Amino acid sequence: MIRVTIWNEFRHEQEAEEIRAVYPEGIHGAIAKALNSPDFAVRTATLDMPEHGLTQQVLDDTDVLFWWGHCAHHEVQDAVVDRVLTRVLDGMGLVCLHSAHASKILQRLMGTRTDRLRWRDDGELNRLWVLEPSHPIAAGLGDFFEIPSDETYGEHFEIPAPDELVFVTWYPGGEVFRSGCCWQRGQGRIFYFQPGHETAPVYFQPEVQMVLRNAARWAVPTATRVPHTGHCQRVANK
Ligand code: ZN
Repeated sequence: MIRVTIWNEFRHEQEAEEIRAVYPEGIHGAIAKALNSPDFAVRTATLDMPEHGLTQQVLDDTDVLFWWGHCAHHEVQDAVVDRVLTRVLDGMGLVCLHSAHASKILQRLMGTRTDRLRWRDDGELNRLWVLEPSHPIAAGLGDFFEIPSDETYGEHFEIPAPDELVFVTWYPGGEVFRSGCCWQRGQGRIFYFQPGHETAPVYFQPEVQMVLRNAARWAVPTATRVPHTGHCQRVANK
């Protein structure tokens, strides 16, 4: 059983009727439904909860943390970001979705200005090409899949080169974007997945839901021990 916590800023859905119509149970509610499987024990947390719902106990009980944020990245307390960062370095998986590219936690982990990319919200087609067909996150997908309408993102995206690049998206406007990126930081696995603007029902689409489930399984902690660091005795006998 993989313990998943889905964190959502949860502001757009409360403040805008047209967005609430798309996600009546919040974006976190839609992602929770996508992960509705015996493999996962899912809980949700939102920005306005005490400590943003990410207490030390919650994080200690989390194998994989999903993160969706957009308009209130600056309201996330640095102490909570520090706490999440430590858990990722110790092995917790992190899946950053869509505009979480600009979240404090992703910027801290990447060390670059990950908020820098091209974008245009005109609801055009997104065609996600699978670059690594044998990658666990691409399991069950074909050569590509399409999202009928979502935001356009484009290069340049200021990220360190991904350890593995699973998806590149093509847009009718001519842009391309590294839309499925894997990194390891410390003992933790990180996946960035671009689809999911708040006005598009992207997280109800079966292929997207499959990617979310695959990502949760891929990002699960694999460390079986705490690696030794610090002052040590000589290993050799002689
Ligand atoms: Zn967006």
